[in-house]
Amino acid sequence: MSDGTTTVNLDQVVLARTAQELAPFMEAAGLTNPVSIAINAYLLDDGTRRLLLDTGAGDLLGSSAGQLLASLVQAGYQPEQIDAVLLTHIHGDHSGGLLTGAELAFPNAELYVNALDANYWLNEANQHLAPAARQRSFANACRKVLPYQLAGRLHTFMAGGEVLLGVGTMAQPGYTPGHTYYTLPGTSPRVVFCADLAHLLALQLADPTIALVYDVDPDQAIASRQRFLAEASAVGYWLVAAHASFPGVGRVEAVGAGYRWQPLSPDKEAL
Ligand SMILES: [Zn+2]
Repeated sequence: MSDGTTTVNLDQVVLARTAQELAPFMEAAGLTNPVSIAINAYLLDDGTRRLLLDTGAGDLLGSSAGQLLASLVQAGYQPEQIDAVLLTHIHGDHSGGLLTGAELAFPNAELYVNALDANYWLNEANQHLAPAARQRSFANACRKVLPYQLAGRLHTFMAGGEVLLGVGTMAQPGYTPGHTYYTLPGTSPRVVFCADLAHLLALQLADPTIALVYDVDPDQAIASRQRFLAEASAVGYWLVAAHASFPGVGRVEAVGAGYRWQPLSPDKEAL
């Protein structure tokens, strides 16, 4: 479901590329800087339990985002009905919706997150070592996740196995230490919620070596992206992407040295 959109200024976000170098990709995608990207989260309902995959931005990114609760209600659900929240990583546009004001937005939900992300973002020593540009992410991580920990609802896992209801996990380190994709049970070809495979889909699929200021380890992030894109295009995974135009469902196709996003709905433009 849609949390809305946010705007990204490429000059502030893309590492080691000039505007001139990015221009061909922008032109091919029909984009101009700054770029508007979608923020998507997803609900899994097996009839007995309801899992939310990511929570959108909450109050962290202004009024164009933070619409997940309204989308949830529009789809016929109340926040109290969410049994578990599974985060792909602890960035504000994915974990910001955990709270409404100071209250747990999902009061009956258990919260699951990769242990590597919890250990990184909820650790003051790491915050002291991090660059200035990442300080706000640390502050937001503590503000949004610690209330669940205090309530005894935070659960951590190592990626590679199943978390709940047959939902599997795939480690995708680099963007954040515990960046995790979720695979949906009983799907063939697999449906993978691939989170921030690309924060800027049009650029980072066309050239998977484009790194962003958000990458905690840019080289590792690029390696994870390249490995997954090769696998996803070869196997034909259905992908559900947090920042592709809503509803964010598509596949990737290898083109030259990069990849192209093929959205499920032919009338939807990919970002
Ligand atoms: Zn994101």
